[in-house]
Amino acid sequence: MTTKYIFFTGGVVSSVGKGVTAAAIGRLLKERGFNVAVQKLDPYINVDPGTMSPYQHGEVYVLDDGAETDLDLGHYERFIDVSLNKVCNVTTGQVYAEVISKERRGDFLGGTIQVIPHITNEIKRRISLVAKTTGAEIVLVEIGGTVGDIESLPFLESLRQMRSDLGRENTVYIHVTWMPYIGATNELKTKPTQHSVAELRSIGISPDMIVARSDYPVEDDLCEKIALFCDVERKAVLPMVTTDVLYEVPLMLERLGAGDYLLKRMNLEARRTPEWQEWEHLVQETRLQKPTVHVAIVGKYVELHDAYMSVREALKHAAISLGLEVEISWVHSAELEKGRGWEMVRHADGIVVPGGFGSRGTEGKIQAARYARENKVPYLGLCLGMQLMVVEFARHVMGSDEVNSSEFDRSTPYPVIDLMPDQKDVSEMGGTMRLGLYPCQFQPGSLAAKAYSKKMVQERHRHRFEFNNAYREVLEKAGMRYSGLSPDGRLVEIAELTDHPFMLGTQFHPEFLSRPNRPHPLFVSFLKAVRDRAGVQADLQVESIKVEG
Ligand code: GLN
Repeated sequence: MTTKYIFFTGGVVSSVGKGVTAAAIGRLLKERGFNVAVQKLDPYINVDPGTMSPYQHGEVYVLDDGAETDLDLGHYERFIDVSLNKVCNVTTGQVYAEVISKERRGDFLGGTIQVIPHITNEIKRRISLVAKTTGAEIVLVEIGGTVGDIESLPFLESLRQMRSDLGRENTVYIHVTWMPYIGATNELKTKPTQHSVAELRSIGISPDMIVARSDYPVEDDLCEKIALFCDVERKAVLPMVTTDVLYEVPLMLERLGAGDYLLKRMNLEARRTPEWQEWEHLVQETRLQKPTVHVAIVGKYVELHDAYMSVREALKHAAISLGLEVEISWVHSAELEKGRGWEMVRHADGIVVPGGFGSRGTEGKIQAARYARENKVPYLGLCLGMQLMVVEFARHVMGSDEVNSSEFDRSTPYPVIDLMPDQKDVSEMGGTMRLGLYPCQFQPGSLAAKAYSKKMVQERHRHRFEFNNAYREVLEKAGMRYSGLSPDGRLVEIAELTDHPFMLGTQFHPEFLSRPNRPHPLFVSFLKAVRDRAGVQADLQVESIKVEG
């Protein structure tokens, strides 16, 4: 079949859930039997988000092939349960870098290089690569930012051209807008939506569907007004009220008729009837009152929860599967160093130390790892969290505070975490990491082997430093177990402590492979240990009440 394209633009303000909407619509189409992939076009000039501060950009989401991408790709993969690849995230930086290098090579035979057609052709070429590399029949393309941003113009122009290139039934434009609520008059406003549609029109794109986001219920007359003023069919105006359960969005869009409308609009017949039981179950489970466990995430960017989006989602997926409510406290590691925030750590039934770069706050994370080890609190270390768990344990075993990762102390006498010998000459910051899927084999009988119950897995990596093999023996004798190794045995992928209910760290990032209905086994095992600990604490409290009584 000819590839179909659905384009998502944003209007009024950003951060209203355009990525989630695109992901959810992808699910609607997958449920109807189509192969779907999603691409994010990011108008900023950076080549990829790999070197951007998580404060500005949230988490960097890593794909199987090692591409460092926008966090919206996490939504796409989690909602649609597909594995995307590096062509699924395009930035202005990549587009210009490609066109300029072609110009330097002389590919344009002395012609003048312009936004139209050279830049727009390169954008269209990259859009066409999605279907070619993933086999998708329907490609969803989301443009970052909102209409009217200066950087997004070449992208929007490319989408406009695609309608004339491919025809109306092969291209659909969905505009996601926001309806502000005016408290004084107690009403929702459609005017900003009208303005942003006018802006989109001035670029030559007329939306086929409008997703009008709002924090309040939307009356039918408002949808009619949007339909009339924005020249969209009434059925194609979808009022999307904010929900407290992320995974309810596909169900809401289904109820609003989005899936059937889109298929009809693209002249397609559903190949199967959507089955929503699993998703309905997920939403019901999320809303149920459940026993609560407390997990502290000790990180450096905790003010912005989006910086740890996949970690948070992975914890939620595992919690739902165990019938638990997980309450996360966000603990700033640099604060722990100053003696602040410890009440949150002490209150927690489990501690997660996620990934990170740079030395700020690392000592606080090491202190959190020490607290977990000494008090037998379940601990899950993800990448940097694993490395610091090793540093902490080695400091204890060797009796020296000088033990460190050479990332944070180049002249440490005990670099338990270090660059591999063959990496030592590498000096560039970009593109020098171990990225993407690598295999990991388990040591039978270990916590890790029990969690996965298979011999080998592939997990996603994003790091430069490794466990230093010179320290394997001494730490092993003291109670560290290398429960996951690369098949050649050279790289430590998972380390755990034997004399502890659950203290385990992974060199990879398991959070990227957790799915709402397929929680990651390590997160599930961790939360089981957390549940046991919480049970113990609850019993202790009951005991103490009894004693006092
Ligand atoms: N900074 C560490 C390294 O580069 C850990 C990276 C991470 O946590 N993703 O090895």
